[in-house]
Amino acid sequence: MDTAEYRAQLQQSILRSDIVKIFDNLLTIAVEEGASDIHIEPLENYSRIRLRIDWVLQELIQYPRSLHESVISKFKIESGQMRPDEKRLPQDARVSSVTQTNKEIDLRANTLPTVWWEKLVMRIVDKSKPIPALNTLGIVGTNKDSIEKHLQDPNGIILNTGPTGSWKTTTLYAALSEINDIERNIITYEDPVENKMEGLNQSQVRSDIGYTFLSGLRSALRQDPDVIMVWEIRDQETLEMAMESAMTWHLVFSTIHTNSAIETLTRAYNLWAKPFMVAGTFNLVIAQRLCRWICPNCKWKINVKTDPRYLNALETFKEFDREALKIELQKRGITGEEWSNFVKEGVVAMWTGKDPKTGNVCPVCMGSGYKWRVWIYELMDYTDDIKNLVLDNKSAFEIGHYALSKWMIDLERDGIFKIMKWMTTIDELYRFVRLRNKK
Ligand SMILES: [Zn+2]
Repeated sequence: MDTAEYRAQLQQSILRSDIVKIFDNLLTIAVEEGASDIHIEPLENYSRIRLRIDWVLQELIQYPRSLHESVISKFKIESGQMRPDEKRLPQDARVSSVTQTNKEIDLRANTLPTVWWEKLVMRIVDKSKPIPALNTLGIVGTNKDSIEKHLQDPNGIILNTGPTGSWKTTTLYAALSEINDIERNIITYEDPVENKMEGLNQSQVRSDIGYTFLSGLRSALRQDPDVIMVWEIRDQETLEMAMESAMTWHLVFSTIHTNSAIETLTRAYNLWAKPFMVAGTFNLVIAQRLCRWICPNCKWKINVKTDPRYLNALETFKEFDREALKIELQKRGITGEEWSNFVKEGVVAMWTGKDPKTGNVCPVCMGSGYKWRVWIYELMDYTDDIKNLVLDNKSAFEIGHYALSKWMIDLERDGIFKIMKWMTTIDELYRFVRLRNKK
């Protein structure tokens, strides 16, 4: 996507102090470049705008401090939800807008009083973004089999966990579109409705008028649903209601805030779920992270044999059932050569940022080393043996350990397989995977 023209316009509107134009151009650039957040921030001697693209902040432009106050006040006034004269307290606003490229977006904005002035952060929800097909997200091998199996379940709960910005709702949308057919009544309770999908009954909750995820779930059963999606489970009542719906022959999708699929069990217990309820309703728990895809043009190999992260990676295969591992490699199409390159030679892909032919800055990734994204997935399949361990009051730690010794693919394993395939790098994976404690 070429946004050079809008960048030039942004530059111009800053020179002319045309605040309306600044916002128009800024939003367009951000959406076209796939940014998730815009940071408009004052520093001691100047102000700057940064965009978060694929989880990493990048500077878009700097502008004079003298312009900063007008930029922030203009936004506060336009939002209609912030008080322009209040500069000492953080404020929130939600705004809908349309870019110059005709894309509908929602913004969730927040101001923060800093020592230099107020900073404004806007989260972007691009409502025109098409939902990718489930099979393009990177759910492969055993993970793929598990999700395909559970999408056919008549009842139970499928949860997705992951930090904000990991696109977990994209996975849920993609999963729902797989089962979106004439025979199923699918109801969703969302905040916000990110994508409008044909055939779904999507409802925007409004907690300001008492329409919450919980009250939505309570009334769902009177809408004769087969499948219910509730955006987020945050409290005991919502979890209970979701479990009740799952026990009365509905398939329930939701997200929950935890660090991993395994830890979700602990979170459910903290929300007062009982083991028999978990065993009776949990079908599948997904965890996901967003990684950047290594640039295909300038990737090259390096040897990481002494890198502690590489040594950490090798450890994970020690507790992996040999037979299950063999099957996993087969399912993922990892060749004997790819396996031995990694395990025996310690060779992985790294980017150079330089065009291999000319030696100049790589034209594909602009020298950043990455292009596009790939997701790393962890799927905890609540199979009968897992349910039995839950009923035996085993801890999440013990259950996780058991699953990993059998067939489970956690974030680290999925990431390592993708590193073997030269899709991403050790740097990307170990931004979010913790190294094991060495004795
Ligand atoms: Zn490149």
